[in-house]
Amino acid sequence: MFKQGKGYTHLLKKIRKEGKKMKYVYGPVPSRRLGKSLGVSPIPPKTCSYSCVYCQLGRTDRFQIKREDFYPKEEIFREIEEVMKKSEPDYITFAGDGEPTLCKSLGWLIRKCKEKFSVPAAVITNSSLLFMPDVRKDLLDADVVLPSLDAGSESTFKKINRPYKGISFEKMVNGILKLREDYNGKIWIEVMLVKNLNDSDKALTEIKSCLEKINPDQVYINVPIRPPAESWALPPNPERIIAAHQILGQIKEIINVEVGDFGLSEFKNAEEAIMEISQRHPLREEQAKKIEEYFHENVIELLISSGKIVRVGYRNKKFLVVNR
Ligand code: SF4
Repeated sequence: MFKQGKGYTHLLKKIRKEGKKMKYVYGPVPSRRLGKSLGVSPIPPKTCSYSCVYCQLGRTDRFQIKREDFYPKEEIFREIEEVMKKSEPDYITFAGDGEPTLCKSLGWLIRKCKEKFSVPAAVITNSSLLFMPDVRKDLLDADVVLPSLDAGSESTFKKINRPYKGISFEKMVNGILKLREDYNGKIWIEVMLVKNLNDSDKALTEIKSCLEKINPDQVYINVPIRPPAESWALPPNPERIIAAHQILGQIKEIINVEVGDFGLSEFKNAEEAIMEISQRHPLREEQAKKIEEYFHENVIELLISSGKIVRVGYRNKKFLVVNR
């Protein structure tokens, strides 16, 4: 069920009157690892240094490793401040529609959040740029960094993450190891398991040997449950997930369902909520129906017939995905 926040009616009227649409901040959205997570996306959609086969955003449009200020940092922070006036998230999470460390002002944004709010800051990264000293420096003030590690060898890395040229497996892993040395916060590694790509005993043993060197505070296993960039990127069979548990050891949790409630009070109507959430977080149709119930509006069929979103079937579930 979707909950209404405190002072919801007043807030909704206020939001409707102001008619504001957030460009960089979304949520809070429910996260298994981060509770109520207020997402910040400081980069344009699908800007990334990888083009992972399992990416829920499709194939990478802006493929790069050059760090940039894509938007004015002050504008991003103003939006965070505005949303924080009416939200009480468990974490402010820099993530978004690609790789957030590509934002040159990431460190500035994290520091400003830490100065202004007593909410921990998290950064979800694909690990590709951690070899850069300025990226590691930017992360120093974050409370938790969540790097991905989907491979334990160059060949698996290339097959699953399809990195930008010049990013080798060794460079990526050495970046995580350097972060471990430089950084005093928590490191929670996420391993995305994809059927026939990194779920063999050999591939898992290679990942295990990297984890032993990194010594993260927590390890999570994830599986692709949302429509992936490549339709053949499937979750492993259950016995391979059990094998991953046994081989990798120290697993905190397997993440494969979203729980909790979306922060719907941030949106002015069902259309806005469905469009915003599905842009960043493909929605199961049943979740979108709950959004309709919450706003007492019927918009799903209208959004589909107008071509704004499409219905995609994946593993016996229906998802609503923004039509890019
Ligand atoms: S899954 Fe993340 S790292 Fe991989 S291509 Fe998509 S946005 Fe980039």
